[in-house]
Amino acid sequence: MLTGKAECVEATLGGAAFHSESLTIPAPSVMRLSRYVRVPYRHAVPMTRAGVLRRDGRRCAYCGKRADTIDHVIPRSRGGAHAWDNCVAACRTCNSRKADRLIEELGWALAVPPRAPDRAAGGILVLAVEPLPSWEPWLGERAA
Ligand SMILES: [Zn+2]
Repeated sequence: MLTGKAECVEATLGGAAFHSESLTIPAPSVMRLSRYVRVPYRHAVPMTRAGVLRRDGRRCAYCGKRADTIDHVIPRSRGGAHAWDNCVAACRTCNSRKADRLIEELGWALAVPPRAPDRAAGGILVLAVEPLPSWEPWLGERAA
């Protein structure tokens, strides 16, 4: 920000700032780079609970209601991996109803098979951390 390579679009709530002897700069929550910078993505996007909820648009994969938990489609107790392609957003009701059963045993189905988020959609940036509510306008639609 000092050299014009970036500007603050939205300051951090609460007024946090960086101070020098003669200058005060608001701590940015959202910033814009003045030119495109290629991000050296890692190969695998780390899976987080927040990331799965975001990928699935906070909708329960089983009933479509608002989801607060993640569910392992193939339960971990039955060898299911703790991975993007085995985890879906789920509401508490469906999650506890499903417990450690397979969806086939319940007669349930998944509309969309879960998969790792698209890195090109900013997956690693968006999903590696818990997004702040104030970032929502900048993150666009579901990252998957
Ligand atoms: Zn549900």
